[in-house]
Amino acid sequence: MTKERSTIGSQSPPNRNLPTSAYAVFEAGGDMGPFAIERRPTGQRDVLIDIDFCGVCHTDYHYVMNSWGNAIYPVVPGHEIVGRVRAIGAAVTDLAVGQTVGVGCLVGSCGHCGACLDGEESYCTDGLVLTYNSPTIDPGGITYGGFSRRITVDRDFVLTLPATLDMAAAAPLLCAGITTYSPLRHWNIGPGMHIGIIGLGGLGHVAVKIARALGADVTVITTTDRKRQDAERLGAKHCLVSSDQAAMSAAAASLDFLLNTVPVPHCFDPYLPLLKRDGVMCLVGAFGQTPSFDTNNINMQRRTVTGSFIGGLRETQEMLDFCGAHGIVADIELIPMQDINLAFNRLITGQVGYRLVIDMSSLAE
Ligand code: NAP
Ligand code: ZN
Repeated sequence: MTKERSTIGSQSPPNRNLPTSAYAVFEAGGDMGPFAIERRPTGQRDVLIDIDFCGVCHTDYHYVMNSWGNAIYPVVPGHEIVGRVRAIGAAVTDLAVGQTVGVGCLVGSCGHCGACLDGEESYCTDGLVLTYNSPTIDPGGITYGGFSRRITVDRDFVLTLPATLDMAAAAPLLCAGITTYSPLRHWNIGPGMHIGIIGLGGLGHVAVKIARALGADVTVITTTDRKRQDAERLGAKHCLVSSDQAAMSAAAASLDFLLNTVPVPHCFDPYLPLLKRDGVMCLVGAFGQTPSFDTNNINMQRRTVTGSFIGGLRETQEMLDFCGAHGIVADIELIPMQDINLAFNRLITGQVGYRLVIDMSSLAE
């Protein structure tokens, strides 16, 4: 992929801003509602996409609540986008109108920092542009995400979807998929390894499927006994309910790796003893400050606590192809855009099995 970025104002149609309907949240903690936005003209290296489906990630809820204090309202969330190419810029030669494509959490990066040169764009240090809530020269001055009917994206940030995957159920792979695949690959998870997934939600349930397909022996660590059967159906060999002290103690020092998807501040002490010597707990849950934890739980067995952020574009395409080859998609429930406020309520009260995906045809053109 070339590192040139799109130039706005090309010969390619459409060469004007495109009015687009969307849903936004207008203030911290507020309800979402209709919001009219515009998409930029299709530049030379741009792809204009009609959005069919967009997953609802817990990160979207963090922006609704301004959990990290950086939301710039109105926010149009949505970074698990699947749709069809409606138009391409003159310099885009490897995509066709009508083709099914995806867009994840990133729509731009500097292209020249060490991370970008390594194909690790999510760690770009000099110009990361997230799919929503990032400053942009596009209309509105801030990126607007996938809770909308269409989006214009630089070709370098557009993924292609394996034809075998259901479009709606594949949408969550664009965030939940890559966010879990990337650390599993980085820490070489594979046959002979015993790993734990903490939290069986949107990220967690996709992580179980991917880790299983990578050949690992998977344990789900959940807060609720209600998810035990699902954990096993999804491919986990074992399921631990974190409040069951006896079961947690019996599983001490049994795991090589823990992927922690918990979205709220929590103490690590119940989980760290599950790791063997030199075991690693990788945080992907994004909750800011964490309560203190007992350093003995890392020192005494040389354990590591680390984190991971999405994944680069090359790895995202690799993940989609891997999921295509293994028939991995999310367990989803389709909802209309108008149900989004109810959807967030369900998300935070644990009533989702396991990813809500918005059918964008429910939103007027
Ligand atoms: P989700 O669907 O709400 O799932 C989170 C799961 O965590 C829940 O299903 C629940 O599983 C568990 N959980 C919830 N509250 C808990 C608590 N108080 N204590 C222990 N476990 C709890 O959320 P998601 O969409 O998977 O997102 C998870 C987190 O990842 C969010 O913070 C999101 O912002 C973050 N994220 C990070 C990245 C990244 O690049 N690092 C990318 C995407 C998302 P059980 O019912 O099984 O306990
Ligand atoms: Zn996400």
